[in-house]
Amino acid sequence: MPVLEKPKHIEELTLPPRRARLAADTDVLVVGGGPAGIGAALGAARAGASVILVERYGFLGGNATAALVMPLMSFHTQRPTFERLGVSNLLPNDHGPGHPVIAGALKELLEHLVRSGGAVAPSLETGYVVPFDPEVFKWSTLDLLDKAGVHFLFHAFASGVLGEGEIEGVVFETKSGPLAIKAKAIVDGTGDGDIAALAGAPYEIGRESDGLVQPMTLMFRMADFEQAAFQAYARQHPDQWRGVHGLWDLVQQATAKGELDLAREDILFFATPHAREVSVNSTRVTRVLGTDVWDWSCAEWESRRQLEQLVRFLRKYVPGFERSYAVQSGVHTGVRETRRILGDYQLTAEDLLSARKFPDAVARGSYPVDIHNPTGKGTVLRRIPADDAYDIPLRALVPRDIERVMVAGRCISGTHEAHSSYRVMPIAMATGQAAGVCAALAAQGGMVPRKVLADEVQRELVRQGANLERG
Ligand SMILES: Cc1cc2nc3c(=O)[nH]c(=O)nc-3n(C[C@H](O)[C@H](O)[C@H](O)COP(=O)(O)OP(=O)(O)OC[C@H]3O[C@@H](n4cnc5c(N)ncnc54)[C@H](O)[C@@H]3O)c2cc1C
Repeated sequence: MPVLEKPKHIEELTLPPRRARLAADTDVLVVGGGPAGIGAALGAARAGASVILVERYGFLGGNATAALVMPLMSFHTQRPTFERLGVSNLLPNDHGPGHPVIAGALKELLEHLVRSGGAVAPSLETGYVVPFDPEVFKWSTLDLLDKAGVHFLFHAFASGVLGEGEIEGVVFETKSGPLAIKAKAIVDGTGDGDIAALAGAPYEIGRESDGLVQPMTLMFRMADFEQAAFQAYARQHPDQWRGVHGLWDLVQQATAKGELDLAREDILFFATPHAREVSVNSTRVTRVLGTDVWDWSCAEWESRRQLEQLVRFLRKYVPGFERSYAVQSGVHTGVRETRRILGDYQLTAEDLLSARKFPDAVARGSYPVDIHNPTGKGTVLRRIPADDAYDIPLRALVPRDIERVMVAGRCISGTHEAHSSYRVMPIAMATGQAAGVCAALAAQGGMVPRKVLADEVQRELVRQGANLERG
């Protein structure tokens, strides 16, 4: 592999001390512009705080846009009696149609996306996952946050924190040199828990048995896809396509001929809002960690090798794809799982699978435990009880051992199994909004987020339209 090899022994160099320029001082600093950061910035701004959101790329969306992760997974409860629909829209219709358990920032974003022609609203007919257009997503999120009064700094990578224990700000690497932003409270929406880890919060990585995380996947969009031809094939081969994945026999044939070499046994793809396009989620790179630059570099190489094979496979073997082409791949290979920051409470699979309720609930989730095998083929799916949802307590967003920092999105406090559910984008937005509200209340009350009363966070979230109802 042409990628720089990780040295067996890594020598550490001491760098000379350096200076950073103070760029701003704000109530709430949100680091990371993914679903969690978007929810956090909106929640904090709507609660009346001054908010700066800083993002390493030049656009918002995080995995939704940079990694082309589509669609928004279902945020509805599952009804016990619900029957699967057919393959009509290439969507997994089996998560629904109960009631939505997330509203607030997610609902506002969805309405904006649908209004702009960039998403298909969830319905019985189209399914309960939400296909969206990543370009419209970039614009809709920017517009939403701009109108809420959020200020942005793009092209700034967080590399350090100011203060010890009680964190006063964050240092960013930029083209203008190192910049510091001070804040009364900080929301870590980096997905990887970069800020909490830099500040010294404890964290875990991977499953308990061997520390391995879910695989990485480079997603890509195939354009000029003939939906009718594919549907005809799926109808003629009902054992070969289940909603959004399948083609086991074709994968086997191509593998036997040496034309495909994948760490998964099937092909997974989703509809987008465009009839002649699908979003392919079928590359898989195992035993790599997104917070290890050597691993991630190898994953970029390996996933692009797989992408090239997959495009050839789809065009050659799969009806409907004959004239299709890869119009776009992610800016980077998508990272499902890295650090899970340890908070005042750690959410477990048992909490999720028993739909546990907490008095300090600030978000809810109904998406299944969904673990792509960290070592190879297969995916584990375990559903949340029908007609029900689990609570996410405020304590899971408050890192241990440090003050003034909240975590949101996929780096909140939970086990490997629990993470596989709450990592999806709608839930990441909901924990983001909750962290943003808590950070704003802390800033306004002159206290650290840990001291903010949960019922005050809940009251403000409900005022902002969040759904914290039970049952
Ligand atoms: C391949 C794949 C498929 C998936 N499929 C789905 C799906 O179909 N539906 C679904 O709902 N979810 C899906 N997920 C899960 C979901 O995309 C993520 O878990 C979710 O995006 C997490 O949101 P987040 O805001 O916590 O993190 P992210 O989306 O990772 O956003 C983090 C943001 O922080 C920025 N950032 C990171 N570090 C720094 C730094 N040091 N300084 C400045 N900025 C920084 C990043 O650029 C990014 O914008 C999938 C994930 C992957 C990888």
